[in-house]
Amino acid sequence: MTNGKINVSVENIFPLIKKFLYSDHEIFLRELISNATDATSKLVHMSSLGEVKGEIGSPQIEVKIDKKSKKIHIIDQGVGMTADEVSKYINEVAFSGAEEFLEKYKDSAKDSGIIGHFGLGFYSAFMVAEKVEIITKSFKDEPAVHWACDGSPEFTLEESDKKERGTEIILHVASDSKEFLEESKIKGLLEKYNKFMPFPIKFGTREETLPLPEDAEKDAVAEKITVDNIVNITNPAWTKAPAELKEDDYKSFYRELYPMQFEEPLFNIHLNVDYPFNLTGILYFPRITNDLSVQKDKIQLYQNQVFVTDNVDGIVPEFLTLLRGVIDSPDIPLNVSRSYLQADGAVKKISNYITRKVADKLNSLFKKDRASYEQKWNDIKVVIEYGMLTEDKFFEKGDKFMLFPTTDGEYFTYEELETTIKESQTNKEGKMILLYASDKEEQHGYIKMATDKGYKVLLLDSPIISHLIQKLEGSKENISFARVDGDAIENLIKKDETAISKLSDEEKDKLKPMLEKVIPSEKYTIQLEAMDSQALPFVLTQPEFMRRMKEMQQGGGMMGAFPEMYTLLVNTNHELTSKILNTKTAKKREGLIKQALDLARLSQNLLKGEELTQFIHRNVELIK
Ligand code: ADP
Ligand code: MG
Repeated sequence: MTNGKINVSVENIFPLIKKFLYSDHEIFLRELISNATDATSKLVHMSSLGEVKGEIGSPQIEVKIDKKSKKIHIIDQGVGMTADEVSKYINEVAFSGAEEFLEKYKDSAKDSGIIGHFGLGFYSAFMVAEKVEIITKSFKDEPAVHWACDGSPEFTLEESDKKERGTEIILHVASDSKEFLEESKIKGLLEKYNKFMPFPIKFGTREETLPLPEDAEKDAVAEKITVDNIVNITNPAWTKAPAELKEDDYKSFYRELYPMQFEEPLFNIHLNVDYPFNLTGILYFPRITNDLSVQKDKIQLYQNQVFVTDNVDGIVPEFLTLLRGVIDSPDIPLNVSRSYLQADGAVKKISNYITRKVADKLNSLFKKDRASYEQKWNDIKVVIEYGMLTEDKFFEKGDKFMLFPTTDGEYFTYEELETTIKESQTNKEGKMILLYASDKEEQHGYIKMATDKGYKVLLLDSPIISHLIQKLEGSKENISFARVDGDAIENLIKKDETAISKLSDEEKDKLKPMLEKVIPSEKYTIQLEAMDSQALPFVLTQPEFMRRMKEMQQGGGMMGAFPEMYTLLVNTNHELTSKILNTKTAKKREGLIKQALDLARLSQNLLKGEELTQFIHRNVELIK
């Protein structure tokens, strides 16, 4: 038997790194600025420990484009590197100096905000450059060095006369990457990835107009000065302690995050944990409309203030992807596939933590100022309902802050609902019937019928409500939701014992076949009911079960179409019903039945197309 070692040669790996390390070439800038930031963080940290002597000033990072000679410069004033360090950290691909630093300063450096991890970031420079130079001077008393490499495994390393501490990276931009020599392109990248990094990043200069002194002459011209153009905000709100921030600070940070967004957020949630994982961030509840598709991908994920992605699927529970804001955590493994992410224990914990924080916040908002919470309900309910539907932990907590509005503008928690309506809305089987409407306008007639009888009708109109209702019914004992235009209303109507049928049994027996002759039985089940004489002569209802199945089917998932089926309640106490019974000519009677049926269909919004046109013509004839 032979034992051996697979020999991977650099010649093979280098082009691979270049091509496939990152699918997005633009991240080279993020990586190089991250390294510059790391070098500066190290300097600050070591200076605080007394290992770097003297004043370090306020170090900054600069990005420069030299379009003529096709170069990009990234300059920092951080720790720099000695010749040995360049050999070790740069020449040995995948030897991460960041990890080594964290290992060495294990206890004190945990919060120093070091970004690097894999020791590959530097090489992303070769995705856009045909040649890379490093000119660096360590904070240690050693000569500066100049390293250069043209993308082959060969490099040169020599002394340099650089005097100031820090590192300058020079990229000779390749011909297929010329776009990165455009000022607007680099500006966009800085804006996207580096907007909230912890040290000032300078990109060019800009003019600033000085304010005129108060006693200035009328025609005085304001003085202009040239200042460094700093592209980032070094201490974004989420890095501060909640106690340091006022409501306005949160709002102005929201504007920094979404400069194009003119609407203010409804409220925010400050996330802040350091055990068992590290995570900070601020989530905002925006006004959320029923159109769910347009609102996703607004939460930004950062690692140590470096933007990583705005796709937080798998990290944040799905229902919270409707929110906005930032999450910053060095503990989210991003070099893995998304499906693995969802199974990762640490990520699961993070997701649970966020869910719990959101639930707690909603609960405290509700308790603290109920009136204002009720006012916001319409704008936040979709998130809450969606969360209750998809996250069981959230569902359990939801009882405390899920509101049920009525068509009259009252709001109840589930518990309050029970004490208010249980008595009057329990059916013969002892089930509490929660009547609801999904559209105040369309179901107006039915709502009126129910509220006239003193029933409370809930207004539940979000797109996923039928799913949530199903879940609520499954988790609570003896309740049943029923839409006002559904069959449960019959149940409640029947309970009304004061309504006695005006028609005798013989008359009813005579009426039924008359109706059946005109009304198609495959679509309508006829029921004679003694209703209020003020109610409509014919009322159409759809079995709750059937309608709900249909709605859920629209949301996708189920196969096969459900048939269109209705119950036709014929009010035996209505004048028109008696008139039908007593009309001698068959043709005239048929006309009356059709008319009454069409009116019932009209009130359910079921009369459309040609049938509607005919109905209108018939009515015009009637009033002529
Ligand atoms: P990582 O950042 O993951 O450690 P990189 O490939 O990005 O890996 O960088 C490799 C190492 O090179 C860094 O860890 C650091 O020690 C060194 N380095 C890179 N850029 C700089 C810089 N601007 N100043 C000082 N050291 C640097
Ligand atoms: Mg790095």
